[in-house]
Amino acid sequence: MNERAVQLNIPEESGWVYVPYSFIGEEVCGRKKPQTALLVESMMYSFSSADGGRVCRQSYADICARLGVCNDTVARSIHLLKACGAVTQDKRGGICAEYRHKAPSRDLNGVEVPDFLLTEALSIRGRKRDGASVVPDTVRPLRPMEAVILCEIRRAQQNGAKEYATSDSRLAKRFSLNKSTVSEYITALLRSGLLFRTQEGRGCNGRYLSKYTVNEKLLRVLRKRKARENKQKQGKAREALFSAGKLTDDERARAAREIAERNAQAAALDARAERERRYAMRRREAEDRAEHYLRIAERDEAFRAAQKAIGRLDIQIARAEVSRLPALEALKAERVKQCAVRAVRLAALHIREEDLHPVWHCQKCNDTGFEIHTGRPCDCDSLPEGGSA
Ligand SMILES: [Zn+2]
Repeated sequence: MNERAVQLNIPEESGWVYVPYSFIGEEVCGRKKPQTALLVESMMYSFSSADGGRVCRQSYADICARLGVCNDTVARSIHLLKACGAVTQDKRGGICAEYRHKAPSRDLNGVEVPDFLLTEALSIRGRKRDGASVVPDTVRPLRPMEAVILCEIRRAQQNGAKEYATSDSRLAKRFSLNKSTVSEYITALLRSGLLFRTQEGRGCNGRYLSKYTVNEKLLRVLRKRKARENKQKQGKAREALFSAGKLTDDERARAAREIAERNAQAAALDARAERERRYAMRRREAEDRAEHYLRIAERDEAFRAAQKAIGRLDIQIARAEVSRLPALEALKAERVKQCAVRAVRLAALHIREEDLHPVWHCQKCNDTGFEIHTGRPCDCDSLPEGGSA
């Protein structure tokens, strides 16, 4: 694989890592395997085959980007995995090291973890009591085992289960975790909105299990967001190579097309934003004028009192109409009286009733840019600023 291909090797679509159950909770070199080492191992298992047909040629940067971990963690994990013999490394291949996982079979049972779960920042709601925050909100990607637990529940659902019934202790046993850790992970998943608990387990020793479902809608949104980011990154990388003159003719044509497309999209977006800005200014102008007159009128105490009374009477009249109160007629008469007072005050202030409402420049779209009745873009956009239709 040459340098150029390596640089362009940013996945366009979001990928995944396959985590075999048997890798989880294993001891390596006399201690429990760290979660990040589990991820790195799973990635090498997913990308290589034991007979040597496929090797994992990911660079440190690729592994970091895909798993959402830092360089040091990758180095430590690889060191650990090599020390315990799970992974072998072949450096002869050129710029990228080649890794192989020693597991003889590629059909170990396990869960598929989409990589965006490990890299996309999720907002995890905190906990509030009496209005004060006990646990603050956090924004972070999922921890490796949180992602594994979520994907385990998802896997059951994809196999046709409507809900996934389990208890913290069962999950703890299955994934070699502490019960309190599982409970913490489940809480984080619930608070991230990715997991729903349709029934909370009760009874001693988890006699009645909790039931969970996965929020597929949110997963879809996250996947799309990641795919879009990847696409942008890929475009930028290609653009850099394009300007550095490092592409073949075919690649050059494709890059030029992509750059043109992206520029066109950006231009269209800019034009839309500019149009929206123009209409917002026109609306503001009309609203400012109405507010100006309203402020003058409200400086008059009698007007203010009448205005307030009318507002109050409107509510009382609506109530009286609903419950057929006898006071209805009196309320209506009072409202007429207040309206008259208000009109007199307005006349004294030399303000017309229309002045209190925005006078839109365009009657067809009320300065929104879209015709009120049809929703189609209005043709008043071509009018000069402040011009009226
Ligand atoms: Zn219009």
